[in-house]
Amino acid sequence: MHKLEIKDINMNYHSLKGETEAIKNLCFYVDEGDFVSIVGPSGCGKSTLLNIICGLIKPSSGEIYLDGEEIKGINPKIGYMFQKDHLFEWLTVWDNIRLGLKIKHQYTKESEVRIKALLNSYGLYQFRLHHPSELSGGMRQRVALIRTLALNPEVLLLDEPFSALDYQSRLKVSDEIYEIIKKEGKTALMVTHDISEAISTSSKIIVMSKRPAYLKRELDISFDNGFTSPLKRREAPDFRVYFNTIWKELDTNE
Ligand code: ADP
Ligand code: MG
Repeated sequence: MHKLEIKDINMNYHSLKGETEAIKNLCFYVDEGDFVSIVGPSGCGKSTLLNIICGLIKPSSGEIYLDGEEIKGINPKIGYMFQKDHLFEWLTVWDNIRLGLKIKHQYTKESEVRIKALLNSYGLYQFRLHHPSELSGGMRQRVALIRTLALNPEVLLLDEPFSALDYQSRLKVSDEIYEIIKKEGKTALMVTHDISEAISTSSKIIVMSKRPAYLKRELDISFDNGFTSPLKRREAPDFRVYFNTIWKELDTNE
């Protein structure tokens, strides 16, 4: 049984300007503990897909299965990390992270212990009383991830999580975020337009076409022992090969 299954998803937006076909017959799956990336041209329907999976919008047709059961609407087992960190500037790191649980009336002694442990493990405990504006872009992304993890989801959806960062920080932060996700044993589905980022983090890459997005190619990624972190994988001989394969897929203007 797959952890997450996307089955025959179609999505058409209707507005005054007419109909926009965003996603067409999309099918793929994500297994437990996998890190899967979706790459595709800008505007092809990647964010739309994540919004459908987490229940923010309803697809025109098709189903999403989690642990073999069809899900409709918001599901607590699915966590979402957006492109922008959406941290509240007037709240401390600590209060930002607790907010989701408080709103859901799920803030317990147990969750407090979990949050403290997360802050400790990922180098943010001493910054817990700081405000987001006092942190670097990378630290803010780690806070945003911990805020999502505080709700204890099993599947994490990440929408271009590093695209607001400069190149240097992006390499470092993608390494850190990858390590956190692996250590916490989460299943991840990430959208990115950065081919290298996808190859260096993923066990599988889904290449989407131009809008309306259909699945152009599904590619399993594996590296020899030793190439364990995203940064190290960028040095692997196979990295170029994967890069060229995906580059060609995206370059065919479909
Ligand atoms: P991506 O994340 O791949 O860049 P999106 O999923 O954001 O793409 O958008 C896919 C297409 O759907 C785009 O053409 C966009 O303009 C359109 N779209 C997105 N949201 C809406 C909406 N709420 N109403 C109408 N069209 C939308
Ligand atoms: Mg998007």
